[in-house]
Amino acid sequence: MLRLTNLTLPLHHADEALLSAIFKRLRVTPRDVVRYQVVRRGNDARDKANIQLVYTVDVTLRNEAPVLARFRKDRDVQKTPDTHYRHVGTAPAGAPRPVVIGAGPCGLFAGLILAQMGFRPIILDRGKVVRERTKDTWGLWRRRVLNPESNVQFGEGGAGTFSDGKLYSRIKDPRHLDRKVLTEFVKAGAPPEILTEAHPHIGTFRLVTMVESMRATIEALGGEYRFEKRVVGVDIGTDGAGVRRMQGLHLHTGEYLEASHVVLAIGHSARDTFRMLHDAGVFVEAKPFSIGVRIEHPQSWIDRARFGANAGHPVLGAAEYHISHHCSNGRTVYSFCMCPGGTVVAATSEEGGVATNGMSQYSRNERNANSGFVVAIDPERDFPGDPLAGLDLQRHWERRAFVAGGSNYHAPAQRLGDFMARRPSTTLGSVVPSYKPGVTPTALDECLPDFVVEAMREAIPVFGRQIPDYDHPDVVMTGVETRTSSPVRFTRGDDFQSLNTAGLYPAGEGAGYAGGILSAAVDGIKVAEAVARSMIGAA
Ligand code: FAD
Repeated sequence: MLRLTNLTLPLHHADEALLSAIFKRLRVTPRDVVRYQVVRRGNDARDKANIQLVYTVDVTLRNEAPVLARFRKDRDVQKTPDTHYRHVGTAPAGAPRPVVIGAGPCGLFAGLILAQMGFRPIILDRGKVVRERTKDTWGLWRRRVLNPESNVQFGEGGAGTFSDGKLYSRIKDPRHLDRKVLTEFVKAGAPPEILTEAHPHIGTFRLVTMVESMRATIEALGGEYRFEKRVVGVDIGTDGAGVRRMQGLHLHTGEYLEASHVVLAIGHSARDTFRMLHDAGVFVEAKPFSIGVRIEHPQSWIDRARFGANAGHPVLGAAEYHISHHCSNGRTVYSFCMCPGGTVVAATSEEGGVATNGMSQYSRNERNANSGFVVAIDPERDFPGDPLAGLDLQRHWERRAFVAGGSNYHAPAQRLGDFMARRPSTTLGSVVPSYKPGVTPTALDECLPDFVVEAMREAIPVFGRQIPDYDHPDVVMTGVETRTSSPVRFTRGDDFQSLNTAGLYPAGEGAGYAGGILSAAVDGIKVAEAVARSMIGAA
């Protein structure tokens, strides 16, 4: 089979045009083609009046060799890569059960791969099973009641469960592990289109049922979940060679769990656990992250700006954007985790704090587009010395936002026009904020560092030149967006184990090795393989 990439056709092309384009591009006749399959479809909307669909297609030919030879210097005609996933081995008899802390995408995939190899992992999560967790999460959004152990960040499915469910990433993935993730998601109930869309997404409701389905699979393979079990201590011994080595875990219930191989997939919001690990001497360092606000525009404005007269075309869906600007103060401002046709959500996990994020349903048909509008923070410049200082910085501004919002989990919000004019908002305009439980018009300067505010003020007119009406005065900004990524990294070696604690496998977003659902899941696979290799090697 050969893979044909960058095959472009006009947006409004007829179905048969794709096959004709394949014949023409490969210079073959209908008799030469046995079958073809679309592997990916994206769009190129740089010219709004002439939007192109961009296909990647796998083609099976009767005689492939001469065609490959003819196109040997053409990067868009190659042999189809082998994307089939192969496990690194099977569990040796009597192998100890690995423990995975965290049932987010990273922990789920670590657990799944270990279970598929026969390791019978134990998966711990501080939060609740996903249906119960959903009720608690809505409790904050509807009734302003936060459960610090069961919310947007904590519980089965992890941080991305109530999200847009975007499933793309810019990680280098030469082994095509993303394919394994997407295939397992489809088995668990995701729409099959995620296998072919260039920018696939799932949306919140489907994620909930998928997470349940994956749990059933893991349990059927001998894995075990233990919910509402927070890890509060690590038991680290020293072996005969003087190496610090994992021995077990202490849970908040007082239980002790023996554990020689522990996958640490705790996400970016487990601040208490970060501190506990630091106090236990596990190597950790500060890493860059970003803070800012969520910005909301009517989706129709973004669709028009991106697709012109083709806005609303079903193949294109709701338009996305990704923009960035390097400011004169040396800061970078960029859009983060854009959610077309979605809503802004309350994403705090700590009492007395307000943090924003975004989510959507599969249909992406809510009125507004929202996106993080954030400024990069550099630990060496902004909080040198203490590896955990980034946590305190996040918490400080989340608390300021809580107070500015009225100390009742309403979020502070401001019209863009007022923000630019440096005056507090007293009312909002034509763009209705989607944040639940509600917003308080105010001045966002109160809840962000000065350098962040100045960088945002510089970037807004720049972005307005790239996306018409991005800088419309009625656009709403809601604060604060602090949990863009982990402020720390639990650095690991080539064997995927903590630099100074053997048997501890830091993984996913919280450990600083992923920045989204897909990359966290891929990292979970890699770490599961490392655990398996270590156990198979020791057997
Ligand atoms: P997490 O998903 O954070 O999971 C960590 C788990 O560990 C949690 O379930 C937590 O309860 C558990 N845990 C923590 N501490 C302990 C402890 N001490 N003991 C036991 N358990 C513990 N990414 C995308 O790619 N696309 C999106 O559209 C998207 N939208 C998002 C929307 C929202 C509202 C949020 C909050 C995030 C979004 N993200 C999105 C980011 C994405 O969710 C994360 O990158 C991803 O979930 C990280 O996966 P993870 O498994 O590493 O950690």
